[in-house]
Amino acid sequence: MTDELRQRIAALMPQARTDLAELVAMKSVADPRQFPPEECARAAQWTLDAFAELGFTDARLVETADGSKAVYGTRRCPNPDAPTVLLYAHYDVQPPLDDQAWRTPPFELTEVDGRWYGRGSADCKGNIVMHLTALRALRDDVPVHLKLIVEGSEEQGTGGLEEFVAPNAELLKADAILVCDTGNAAVGSPAATVSLRGMVNVVVKVESLKTEVHSGMFGGPAPDALSALVRMLATLRDENGGTTVTGLDNTQTWTGEAYPPDRFRADAGLLDGVELLGGGHVSDLVWARPALSILGIDCPPVVGSAAALQPHAAARLNLRIPPGTDPGQAQAALTEHLKHAAPWGVHVTVEVEATGSPFRADTSGPAYAALGEAMKEAYGTEMAMLGQGGSIPLCNVFAGQYPEAEIILMGVEEPLTLMHAPNESVHPDEIAGMALTEALFLRKFADRKTG
Ligand SMILES: [Zn+2]
Repeated sequence: MTDELRQRIAALMPQARTDLAELVAMKSVADPRQFPPEECARAAQWTLDAFAELGFTDARLVETADGSKAVYGTRRCPNPDAPTVLLYAHYDVQPPLDDQAWRTPPFELTEVDGRWYGRGSADCKGNIVMHLTALRALRDDVPVHLKLIVEGSEEQGTGGLEEFVAPNAELLKADAILVCDTGNAAVGSPAATVSLRGMVNVVVKVESLKTEVHSGMFGGPAPDALSALVRMLATLRDENGGTTVTGLDNTQTWTGEAYPPDRFRADAGLLDGVELLGGGHVSDLVWARPALSILGIDCPPVVGSAAALQPHAAARLNLRIPPGTDPGQAQAALTEHLKHAAPWGVHVTVEVEATGSPFRADTSGPAYAALGEAMKEAYGTEMAMLGQGGSIPLCNVFAGQYPEAEIILMGVEEPLTLMHAPNESVHPDEIAGMALTEALFLRKFADRKTG
């Protein structure tokens, strides 16, 4: 049955490409200040129509709390005892960012060296096309009840769908949830993402003087706020560059698949001679330990800056936290650390912008067993279990609402996709391989639950 499905999917790939080209052409950035809302409306309608054609006869748009519309639908199978699987993706995309940095037009699917380039080609329109291709390959023989939710504001972080889940718990209830917004370890290396870091975002503000004063007259004894801030930020890393927030454990190790350092260097685009930080295994540092990044600093830009001491300065910080760390505790530790590190009696305030919990999947159930078999058959190699440095808050919402459900993170977004950056792309072999995985998974999961 695998060979037959594989052949069907190969034959479906031209349609997958056409579909993806149509989707990528829609500039569905869910921020009306940047792109007209009609672009999102078109992407939503396109998705609705495509799934309606595949038997989701009740497909419809549902409004979420942030005003975005999600595509929802169900597809029953003849066996009433069959398990239910919820398929997830999102149709909104990141803005293209720097147009000049794109080597191909961001909203025109373009093939270069075997990869398909365009904003959203992987994240997450490639996963919508993966779902469609898997279902087309199965034809009428889909042995599970399906539910579909494709949201329209994932990239905005406004939490529309997250707030939709609790009041609409019955609509989305399922035995297994395929959160298809991650990807394999590399092209051809199948993987499930089983751990996500949480995060704490803060803005730290430093004040030292009533107003700007001349650096010639006062520089020396008078403390400038920017120097104080720089000293404080420097205490957040040790000499190896490892994150050192007092009170947070930075010795934990990752027990799943290792992230080879050479691949990490290439994936992250480190320049020649630039070192990896933290003095440990890459997988420990990126999946099992806290990591602090400075996202922005408020201070005078170089051009236009005067010979003056700065009375105030601010920085926006992002702290990623691994499973096992409580965001509230991490936020308190970071705030305490910054206040303690402030030199010279300068005034410090720390505002918390946002926090998110880490996530760890329970991989002991039948859905993970079915997925492991499906990946092995589709790719010929064992499924790896990966972590991901980023956060997907919806996973915690699903885990809280449906403690019995198995939550699986997978998809077409392997590291070379450069999601969120200019020149995003997808490898068509990943669409084909993951569509085959998904089709096999649905069959094997049904067998395990009903057989
Ligand atoms: Zn995404």
